[in-house]
Amino acid sequence: MKNITSKLIHGNIDNQKDIYRSLKTPIYETNAYSFDSSEQISSAFKGEIDAFAYSRTANPTVFELENRLTLMADAVGTVCVSSGMFAITSTILALCNAGDHIVASTYLFGHSYALLNNTLRDIGIETTFVNPANEEELTNAIKPNTKIIFLENIANPQLFVFDIDKIAAIAKKHQIILMIDNTLLTPYLFSCADHGVDVEILSTTKSISGGATSFGGAIISYESDKWGANKKTSEYFKNFGKLALIKKLRKDSYRNTGGSMSPHNAYLQLLGLETLTLRMDKSCENALAISRFLETRQEVKQVNYPALPSSKYFTLLNTHYKGKAGCLVNFELESKEKCFSFMNKLKMIRRATNFCDNKSLIIHPHSTIYAEYSELEKQNMNISDCMIRFSVGIEDIEDIKADILQAM
Ligand code: PLP
Repeated sequence: MKNITSKLIHGNIDNQKDIYRSLKTPIYETNAYSFDSSEQISSAFKGEIDAFAYSRTANPTVFELENRLTLMADAVGTVCVSSGMFAITSTILALCNAGDHIVASTYLFGHSYALLNNTLRDIGIETTFVNPANEEELTNAIKPNTKIIFLENIANPQLFVFDIDKIAAIAKKHQIILMIDNTLLTPYLFSCADHGVDVEILSTTKSISGGATSFGGAIISYESDKWGANKKTSEYFKNFGKLALIKKLRKDSYRNTGGSMSPHNAYLQLLGLETLTLRMDKSCENALAISRFLETRQEVKQVNYPALPSSKYFTLLNTHYKGKAGCLVNFELESKEKCFSFMNKLKMIRRATNFCDNKSLIIHPHSTIYAEYSELEKQNMNISDCMIRFSVGIEDIEDIKADILQAM
């Protein structure tokens, strides 16, 4: 199987060992696994044999989800965890010590920004926030102790699109690990493997969960000589080569902090993977149609959707991405009051956080996800109080349009 939808539906057929030949991966709701002998359990703990021992560390249902994500991404390995936030946290803990430094995009999901700016700063991991589109600003922010460059390839909710090849070249020159949050596009619409990314982050809570069914996160690792250059993974690189980051996570920052994914969530997300490409194609088609529709409305001051021919990112999206921009659209009305009044009148489209649900969801980021930030911080992050973020669902397009029309 060469193509992504078939890979997601079948996984690695030769590797499926369910004793009853179940077509769906069963939910292994068990905390521990028995061994035939004391010698065998000892070998499992020492890593001499591959075996499941305890579900916080590894579980067969979660393992199958990890395998399918690795296959989909053309990567070397994946660790699935409890949430997207935990995927970011445990990766940073695997690569940085107190005293280390990160260069990150100013344009990040609010809690990712807060993790770097508050939680990690408090324990001595410093972050400099930059505009990743500005190569000079990015390069100038790099210090001798910089360990990671971290950004969302398409920023949520600003929808700025970044040229990952250019940023990967800077990361390579300075031997710094490039960590990309690819949640909005997933490996289906942006291949980190083809653009010099070292580690990819997904909040599987979004499109992979199959429609807001469950929380989860994935850390997808690529082959990189930087695992040898980073002092926290260099020993692992000597012993495990390209699997250095995965082994480091499994034996250290993921295992010891306990943020495992539940087997039930992994089961739901395996179901989600089977229909991922269908759902993503439909939400991209709907998002483009809604963006075009919003552009024709005089109440709407500005529409941002990178796949719109009028977008300044249209060329980049078509040359460096796969031409599709995912389910998120943002647009501006005249004022915060106009945004609230419009949103309050919606009947089918739900006022809710989250995105890549099958349902259309709408939110005013300034007063919700970014409410804890000062006006100046919000200004720096380009979060205007006139901006609405719209996660376009997979409903019939005429019903989405009709709801917007009656609310306007
Ligand atoms: N990354 C992005 C781009 C997000 O939008 C989110 C959440 O909305 C996260 C990471 C965090 O994911 P989770 O809510 O699964 O922890």
